[in-house]
This record gives sequence, structure tokens and C-alpha cells, in this order.
Amino acid sequence: MDIIPNICLKIFYLTITILLLSCQTLTFTQINSHINDMPRCNPQLSGTSQLVQIPGYSHAWHIVPDCAYFSIESVSIVMSYFYLRWVTEFTDPDRRLLKILNDLMIQWGHEKKMMPGYTVNGDRVESSRVLGLVITPGVIWININEKNKICKTSFIHELVHLGLISQGFKGDPDHEGTRYLGWTPAHTRFINDLNTLMCGMGF
Ligand SMILES: [Zn+2]
Repeated sequence: MDIIPNICLKIFYLTITILLLSCQTLTFTQINSHINDMPRCNPQLSGTSQLVQIPGYSHAWHIVPDCAYFSIESVSIVMSYFYLRWVTEFTDPDRRLLKILNDLMIQWGHEKKMMPGYTVNGDRVESSRVLGLVITPGVIWININEKNKICKTSFIHELVHLGLISQGFKGDPDHEGTRYLGWTPAHTRFINDLNTLMCGMGF
């Protein structure tokens, strides 16, 4: 069943993932109080883009066009699941990917961007609708769709590009194509599996 978790469940998920990532001796109470004290998107400023910090990461922030997209807990949880699964499957020597995530800026937007690119198979397309971009290793842009779920965006896809950058590749813009190195069918499967899991959890 596809459900949207309530705020308590989100904070529970987030507390678990922060504990797993932090390797510190923080208690549930300390982390919960830290999360509850963090500034959030202000619905009274609707119509204005807002910059909000992502909990669980030292300097990760996101810019949202309005407060419906997305809660800081949801983004943090998806990032944490991504990282923990990435480490299990692809490893993270010297925590280079974790450093990128700790300094990440995520821009969510409704804009329709058209530009040249590659399909997942590696086929070159001269002009296509872009659903996400790695602007720099520290800044990604993600198109927001009408479904209001992170799993329906290209968020995890762009994080995989960052994972490849952390391993010394050039991000591999042609995915499973052969022009650039890094991306394999395992990365495509990783994205599909993780998006399915996140959708099932309501993110
Ligand atoms: Zn891509």
C-alpha cells in the first residue's frame, strides 16, 4: 500500500538512519530534539523559494518552491537509505560520497528544461526534457512532478551520478552507454529497486 507517513513516523525513520550514519553516541532523545529544533519551510511564505537545512548532514540544504515539496525529514531519509545501500553495494572508500552528501545543495523546481543528453541506454538525444541535473558535484537540480513523491523524481538517479563522481568517474552522463565510464546495469537496477522501496515507504 502506498501511504504518506505521518510526521512521527518520519522522525522515527530519520532517527534510525542518523544513528546508523553518525556512529556517535547520541541518544534517540538528543536526535529527536535536534530535529524538532531545526528551522522548517514556512508555509506562510508560500510562493517564495525557501532554503532549508537537511537534518543528519552537516551542511546539506535544499531549496523548495513551496512547502509541499518536500519535507526535510523525507529528503534526509531518502538520502540516508541511498547512502547505506550504496555503501553495501558499491562501497565508499574514505567516505568521499558521504562528504559530498554532507555538503550537498538540492534545488527542487517545476521548470521544464530541454537540452541535449543521453537515455539510460546511452543513446544520444539532441533535445529532451530533463528531469534532473548534476550542476556541480555539490549542486543538483531536480524537477518536481505532480505526484509529490521523491521516488517519482530523478533524485536517486542524480545521487548515483554523484556516487560515480566520488569514485573518480566523470559522473558518466551517458549511463549504460560506452562513451563515458562508470555506470553499469547494476546502477540502473539500484535506482529502480531503491525507488520502489521509497515509494512503498511513502517517500
Ligand atoms: Zn543521468
